[in-house]
Amino acid sequence: MSLKIKNLSKKYGAGLFSEGTEIFREVSFTLEAGKTFGLMGPSGVGKSTLGRITAGLEKPTDGDVFYKETSIFGLAGAERTAFRRKVQLMFQDPTDAFNPRKKIDRSIFEILKLIKIPEPERPDKTRTMLETIGLSEEVLSRFPAQLSGGQLQRLALGRILLLEPAFIVLDEPTSALDVSVQAQVLHLLKQVQEKWRIGYLLISHDEAIINFMSDSRGLLENGKLRVLD
Ligand code: ADP
Ligand code: MG
Repeated sequence: MSLKIKNLSKKYGAGLFSEGTEIFREVSFTLEAGKTFGLMGPSGVGKSTLGRITAGLEKPTDGDVFYKETSIFGLAGAERTAFRRKVQLMFQDPTDAFNPRKKIDRSIFEILKLIKIPEPERPDKTRTMLETIGLSEEVLSRFPAQLSGGQLQRLALGRILLLEPAFIVLDEPTSALDVSVQAQVLHLLKQVQEKWRIGYLLISHDEAIINFMSDSRGLLENGKLRVLD
């Protein structure tokens, strides 16, 4: 299974009287199950924009994204819902991922409810998830502000995993974390990928992280993507 990014171009602000600003043009690459495509490039080149388009959260000006050989921008109804579940996005700042007014268990249980896990099964699902991400059950009774950035980023990943995604767009997943916990989170991401064969689009401005994590790499620069290997 793959997610194919074909000839994507993006302009912002194009209209009747304006050509708009071109961010990138004719960008193509493929995400494969169980593999990581590392996307690097300087700040402002459009890496996050490309990530949002890949996850179907934003439309390209031109080009297409194919999931199971079908264009994701033509999906509607149940198919669209299924795609939204199978391709997830993980953000740079894990504090944005959780409602500050809710204890962690409520945030987790809401997701389980949304995906129709029966109530009696929810505690077990939650426990298994916490084991996977290496946190103890104590975190459940905490508010987000009472947890560290590393703990929150693990939980953000855990919550995504409950949805059983096929692909995850990781947009600078460790940039907001202390250097000492960055490596732990990267190792966790690798473990999780091996276990469930999830495909990653890893976005980072840090070449060392890209090289450590990726099976193939691309450099976005001057509006074009250069696939390196
Ligand atoms: P990166 O993630 O590589 O730093 P972004 O994808 O965030 O780059 O942004 C690329 C460019 O597109 C930037 O110049 C940014 O200002 C512009 N941009 C991003 N989102 C929007 C938007 N919604 N409207 C207009 N311009 C945008
Ligand atoms: Mg960005």
